[in-house]
Amino acid sequence: MLLSVRNLHARVGDKDILKGIDLELRPGEVHAIMGPNGSGKSTLSQVLAGRQTYQVTQGEVLFEGKDLLALSPEDRAIAGVFLGFQYPVEIPGVGNLHFLRTALNAQRRARGLEELDAMDFLSLAKERMKLVQMDASFLNRSVNEGFSGGEKKRNEVFQMAVLQPRLAILDETDSGLDIDALRIVAGGVNALRSKERGLLVITHYQRLLDYIVPDQVHVMSAGRIVLSGDKELARELESKGYAWVDKLGAPAA
Ligand code: ADP
Ligand code: MG
Ligand code: MG
Repeated sequence: MLLSVRNLHARVGDKDILKGIDLELRPGEVHAIMGPNGSGKSTLSQVLAGRQTYQVTQGEVLFEGKDLLALSPEDRAIAGVFLGFQYPVEIPGVGNLHFLRTALNAQRRARGLEELDAMDFLSLAKERMKLVQMDASFLNRSVNEGFSGGEKKRNEVFQMAVLQPRLAILDETDSGLDIDALRIVAGGVNALRSKERGLLVITHYQRLLDYIVPDQVHVMSAGRIVLSGDKELARELESKGYAWVDKLGAPAA
């Protein structure tokens, strides 16, 4: 198993957000997490990435059989867990490229590989940019500074193409992409599907899943996964709406 989430509970301050998540993802699989706004999708991704705001109160997460929750966010990234930033912190003056090379070299050091110098990294980056049809000027902009929604998403897939994570978590912005950007982003993601890699695609909308076809779909409501199924579940959800799901997720009286 690539990722095993067992009875995961998490809170912010005194507010319980995740209330017992179970999830098993094998290498090569793509799972979609859907659910209404506020159901805890982003919290789940943040907890997996190790953001400090969220406190895990129960449960466990195994990544390739090891205790993921025991690792710092940096060590999770080095181990191969990737989370693109939904609302990135802007770091003026730090080039996109510099940021990415630092991240890649941290991974390489941990694996006993030689670090890439600026030249070698540049050729790798240029090669990987093709996947999302980015142009070269993109590389030298500050990390997410002044990027449009579509550019941020492309940048996220580009980062993933460079870092080649074992597990990638893609948390969609609710603002949505135009159809061209959606196709490009989905095409990049699909090109990165492989039998070693797992993908967790978090989305409020069904339409992304027309392009990135998941092996399994899970629906969250109020901090729990209340339904799981195959890709048809996403379509059913599209026609029945989230009100249907919220009823399923209502705690027993
Ligand atoms: P989703 O991504 O499904 O829209 P979120 O995980 O963003 O859901 O939010 C789930 C719930 O947790 C919401 O009620 C939200 O207000 C709350 N929440 C998330 N993050 C925080 C935070 N940092 N501080 C306080 N409440 C939060
Ligand atoms: Mg939200
Ligand atoms: Mg969210």
